[in-house]
Amino acid sequence: MSTGEVRRSSGVLVAEFIAKQGEGGKFTKLQMNEAVPNYSQTDRRMRDLRQLGWVIDNYKVNPTLKPDEYLVQKIGVRIDLGEKPLKPLRKSVGGAKRRRILERDGQMCVVCGVPAGQPFPDVPERRAILTIGHIIPFARGGTDDESNLRAECQRCGDESRDNTVDPPTPEFVLTRARNVGGRKEKERLAKWMLAGRKSPDDTELVFLDWCRLPHADRLRVMQEFSLQVLSTDDK
Ligand SMILES: [Zn+2]
Repeated sequence: MSTGEVRRSSGVLVAEFIAKQGEGGKFTKLQMNEAVPNYSQTDRRMRDLRQLGWVIDNYKVNPTLKPDEYLVQKIGVRIDLGEKPLKPLRKSVGGAKRRRILERDGQMCVVCGVPAGQPFPDVPERRAILTIGHIIPFARGGTDDESNLRAECQRCGDESRDNTVDPPTPEFVLTRARNVGGRKEKERLAKWMLAGRKSPDDTELVFLDWCRLPHADRLRVMQEFSLQVLSTDDK
């Protein structure tokens, strides 16, 4: 059984449950979890539905709702009835604006630093496709203003971010930044903060080049590096 199968069927169950409430209907998380038993990622499935034109309010966008309550504003593509969208209904930023932002952000993903068209360091068979993403997500009221837009790869983009989780507080981020290991790592982090992006450092650039070598050459370089460099360079 593939995970794709599991996802499809749970997504369909969530869609079916929410469609049953009707537009204007309210439901609680508990009710949904009872309707979709043995499944814990209902938040993610609701996020998927939002990409398909479903508008489901929570207490963050609608203060009249209780924290565990949801209001169905609009029913989108009925995947529970077998409807299929030709393409996602997300608004995308294009044209000159898109080019300006890619240029401004150095043609690389602001979040993970992968350059456009380059392989991902951890998944060398996949290459980065840059999209324009929202810093404050669209679903949380972020605008298409250039100050709210940035270059993101397909892995770090809006679609892959869980917008149902609250953003971190400044205190939380500062505490974690304090706990980053070692002076060198802290300086690296400060540099990224200053640049407003995670620019790849020398180590990462070397690794990206290594990823582009054929398999046999990769093995050779890895072995020589381990044997000759790592074993002698132990300062
Ligand atoms: Zn990325």
